[in-house]
Amino acid sequence: MKKLLVASSNEHKFFEIKKMLENIEVELLSLKDLECFDDVTEDGRTFAENALIKARYYYEKFKIPTIADDSGIIIDYFNNFPGIYSARFLKNLKNNERNEMIVNILKDVSNKNASFTASIAYVGKIEKVFIGKMLGKISDKVEGELGFGYDPIFIPDGYDKTISQLGDDIKNKISHRSKAINEFINFYIGDDND
Ligand code: IMP
Repeated sequence: MKKLLVASSNEHKFFEIKKMLENIEVELLSLKDLECFDDVTEDGRTFAENALIKARYYYEKFKIPTIADDSGIIIDYFNNFPGIYSARFLKNLKNNERNEMIVNILKDVSNKNASFTASIAYVGKIEKVFIGKMLGKISDKVEGELGFGYDPIFIPDGYDKTISQLGDDIKNKISHRSKAINEFINFYIGDDND
């Protein structure tokens, strides 16, 4: 069976991607399976560049076709920040404290529009990047226990609850990551790419 390395050290991302790929005939490997805890410098200027940097690094190292995810939240009122800096944004705060701070800053702001972007880079015999977006807004309160990162403060368009309240089944149908992974799946099952 074909092997695919899902090169994310973020367990939440890994399990989301694993679930999305469960119907594909492929043996998924994690960085943990390979006992790899390397720190890759993400110095690209876009989600796509950073995803490629990671996927190329692990493909070079293990010679196993690899996908890597680079993703983040874009908040209109912050002039599209934090974007590619989402993981590093207010890093001295706990995740919940950071979310509380964002909600408070936006308390009296009318434009609460925000979006998530995910770039999934595939590196094997060839390289390809798949991009997915989810539009929505920042909630008035930090709400819900499920998910990770900014999920408790993000209400996707068409819903009135945060991603953390909606849970994984809904998230995995509508998320930036699922859109990018679905594009990847179409490519991966369509060709002999490894
Ligand atoms: P990176 O892709 O490893 O640079 O990290 C992306 C960061 O963006 C994560 O650590 C989260 O804070 C945030 N992020 C990306 N995708 C999601 C998501 O699906 N839900 C909530 N936060 C996310």
